[in-house]
Amino acid sequence: MSTDRNQQQTGIIKKPRRVVNICFIVVFLCSTLLTWREMVVLENAYIASQRNVLGNLATSLDRHLQHSIDNLFFYRNTMRYALQYPISTDKSRQAITEFNNKRGLTHWQIRLDTDRSMPINGVSDTMVESDSLLIRDEATLYNELSAALELSYILQLSDTRKTLQFRTYYVSRAGYFISSMLSPNSDALISRYYRHISRSYFTHHDKRQNHGRGVRWEHSSDPSRGGEEVITASVPLDYNNRWYGVLAMDFTIAAMNKFLVSVLPEEEEGAIILYDKKFNVITATRPDEDKPLFTPGQLAQIAQGMEKGNTGEIRFNSNFVTWSKLNAFDGVLIKTHTLDETVRGEFGRISIVLALLWLLFTLMLLGSWIVIHRLVNNMMSLQSRLAWRANYDTLTRLYNRGAFFEQAQALAARCKLHDQPISVIQFDLDYFKSINDRFGHDAGDRVLSHVAGIISHALRGEDIAGRVGGEEFCVVLPGATLAQAGDVAERVRERFNHKELLIRNGTTLHISASFGVSASREDNGYDFECLQTIADRRLYKAKQSGRNRVCTRG
Ligand code: GH3
Ligand code: MG
Ligand code: MG
Repeated sequence: MSTDRNQQQTGIIKKPRRVVNICFIVVFLCSTLLTWREMVVLENAYIASQRNVLGNLATSLDRHLQHSIDNLFFYRNTMRYALQYPISTDKSRQAITEFNNKRGLTHWQIRLDTDRSMPINGVSDTMVESDSLLIRDEATLYNELSAALELSYILQLSDTRKTLQFRTYYVSRAGYFISSMLSPNSDALISRYYRHISRSYFTHHDKRQNHGRGVRWEHSSDPSRGGEEVITASVPLDYNNRWYGVLAMDFTIAAMNKFLVSVLPEEEEGAIILYDKKFNVITATRPDEDKPLFTPGQLAQIAQGMEKGNTGEIRFNSNFVTWSKLNAFDGVLIKTHTLDETVRGEFGRISIVLALLWLLFTLMLLGSWIVIHRLVNNMMSLQSRLAWRANYDTLTRLYNRGAFFEQAQALAARCKLHDQPISVIQFDLDYFKSINDRFGHDAGDRVLSHVAGIISHALRGEDIAGRVGGEEFCVVLPGATLAQAGDVAERVRERFNHKELLIRNGTTLHISASFGVSASREDNGYDFECLQTIADRRLYKAKQSGRNRVCTRG
């Protein structure tokens, strides 16, 4: 168990670069994940804010339009009530008398009590007869006229400053109309009446076309206001299963635009566009946005989305689009927010800061990764250099004394275990001191590394060699008998003799060494120190017998 753990720990220490890489990747992934999560939260908040702005706008416009429509219903109820309970006053009788006197004229006006009521404007019996939708039914004619007279008193009170509509009017099928705005006195009356009865806000309230008898909306241009675009809301007036006429209100596009601009929060960027149900632009909060903002395909996508809900959002390239259907009006409010506007806005700024922070953090992470990577590399090369130095001799690149003894003892134990012989060769360079003395210490060093090179080449892979003293070396040959080791020593000795070493220009040198060899099989001992002592003794003997020789006995 403990061995496994040690191995694991060694494994981790052996791969610090991998550990560092994994740590940095984890930190990078975490920071990216957190930033991404923040971005998602921010995007949701942005969508909610876009929805809110448009929702508030739609609610506000709805409330104002609903207020106007409520007025329209109030006028209708007033007239129905007047039709149900007709009153006969001096004024109503006077109006009926005047009507009877003027009904044959091409155009006429009944102007009673002009300070408190609006005039009734009419056309001739002939014109009424010429149009199939118009009728002067004598049975209901006078009751309707007195009801219209009552309405003319109320219309006088309508205050255009407090409402979105600029005009309210009643157009009767009996050939007359009343308007909250003063009507022209002349022939223009005929064209005005004719315009009223020919527009769809009148003709479409025919019972066949408007079963529900509810509000109809129409978007048209008004010649009486120089062709200005106008939205008209209209409701039919019915009583006792008879259709009397139409009550209507006109809203100028300019007033609706002004209203939208006034309720749009000041700091809010983006355009608000009011569309009718056929996706014709009615008005936009930015004049330059009057040109088509969406392709027919995009509008079809919005229409598809609107089938699923009253509000929603969609992304077109870099545009963020939110829509909200209106309850009081037959249309939809759409808000577009371009990427530019998003970036300039609060959410855009926060997103940019967040992205920059992430970038900065990532760059810092990358920087610190590079630094730590270099540190780890340096540390590892230092560690391996130190480890090498702890075991090897820097001059000869052979094992140093301590490491060599450790390796040699382990090798001896293994040979003993496998019942293999093991041999030791100890050798010392002859007259080395004089080389130093004659050619200098550097030359002596070069001789030592030359010797080490020869030994390394002469040995097998499983043999080990070490520098055990100044110019003393030791070799361990596992599996070799005394005779085999003696042969190896002899071969090495001969190589020393044959090789000439260039010390300086023109000066070469022959070196020799004396060898002592010992082996385990001689006395069956595997104690390395003992074997080495024997080999050293034999080396001494070789020195004494004249040097440059191998001694395997004694
Ligand atoms: P012999 O062994 O044949 O009896 O004679 P010798 O001259 O080799 O004698 P000895 O072994 O006593 O001398 C060893 C010399 O080796 C002494 C020392 O100056 C030199 N020496 C030891 N270590 C180094 C070394 O790292 N570099 C160099 N250049 N010389 C060294
Ligand atoms: Mg010597
Ligand atoms: Mg010596």
